[in-house]
Amino acid sequence: MTDWSPRTKAVHSGTRRSQYGEMAEALFLTQGFIYDSPEQAEARFIETGPDEFIYARYGNPTVRMFEERIAALEGTEDAFATASGMAAVNGALCGLLKAGDHVVSSRALFGSCLYILEEVLTRYGVKVTFVDGTDLQQWRDAIRADTKAVFLETVANPTLEVIDLKAVADIAHAQDAIVIVDNVFATPVFANAVADGADVVIYSATKHIDGQGRCLGGVICGTKDFIRKVAEPYLKHTGGSLSPFNAWVMLKGLETVHLRCGAQADAALKIAQAVEHHSNLAQTLYPHLPSHPQHQVATRQMRKGGTVIALDIAAGKEAAFRFLNALNIVSISNNLGDSKSLVTHPATTTHQRLTEDQRDALGITDGLVRLSVGLEDADDLVADIVQALDMI
Ligand SMILES: *Cc1c(COP(=O)(O)O)cnc(C)c1O
Repeated sequence: MTDWSPRTKAVHSGTRRSQYGEMAEALFLTQGFIYDSPEQAEARFIETGPDEFIYARYGNPTVRMFEERIAALEGTEDAFATASGMAAVNGALCGLLKAGDHVVSSRALFGSCLYILEEVLTRYGVKVTFVDGTDLQQWRDAIRADTKAVFLETVANPTLEVIDLKAVADIAHAQDAIVIVDNVFATPVFANAVADGADVVIYSATKHIDGQGRCLGGVICGTKDFIRKVAEPYLKHTGGSLSPFNAWVMLKGLETVHLRCGAQADAALKIAQAVEHHSNLAQTLYPHLPSHPQHQVATRQMRKGGTVIALDIAAGKEAAFRFLNALNIVSISNNLGDSKSLVTHPATTTHQRLTEDQRDALGITDGLVRLSVGLEDADDLVADIVQALDMI
């Protein structure tokens, strides 16, 4: 099983069959599990075997299938599935850290990740230093002997900055710091975060793993020790576990994740190339375009450039709104990784909470729009986006 290629793992790993020999993964929609005797219940609370369950907040056979499948795909010993991507980020950080610990994080983060690091952890006495993730000297200066962990998004939302994971992991490991990455934009399909030095890899399964806009979910992938001794105790007692129904949706999503993300990334590259020199754009950001500031790191670290493009509309907010209003196929929505193409204006939505100075520092201009490329025909998408750019 370990020498299966990723696509085979995404279809078969972790499958558990009941006595009925069902073909598709069973949905165990149950909160609890019945014991044959009080002696069995007592023994199970002392030590829970691999095929034993106690309560769905602690684990469930359908959830376990999803955890084992994504762990196999990611190349980690184990995984813990969570109610959302944010429950995973919160669970990994709060499960690990205590007052007085030091964390170094890249500054360009998804808004809710920034909230956890800036507002939640610091409220409980964790010290957090933020750095420009693309500047390795800043990581070297910030990571100290007492740094417990580093946190970063391998590809930042929404500016698509790519961080050199291998280089940051080497700096962190020299000080015995744990490397925790939010790998949503790189997806489990295009990156090998563990091979590049990540100790813990987090996904919002809401995005590409479901990939069809239905369920919230998340997952923490790591060593057996991290998952069962750090993440699970915190999450099972604080209530961040994934529901069995959502786990079943995510399991089925993993079966097609390579095909979907591959097609979406191919279309994204085609769109980026088609619009790059449009006169109404100040900049087109896509990791696999040679003009991307971290193009070399991006091509080494990711097999494809991902499913998201950032377009900087030269004439600012009003022009960006005219572009959004002129799109026919692409819908205005702040999700990403969906089979439907979606577009959002970060400065007035996902990053509205930030001050103008903070947005400037992150490169979130008033003209920036984030385009999540879906599964529609690539030529139809190019035509729709070009006509909307022309309409500005
Ligand atoms: C969406 C997202 C999250 C949060 O995931 P939810 O499932 O919405 O909780 C975290 N990090 C990144 C980079 C994301 O894009």
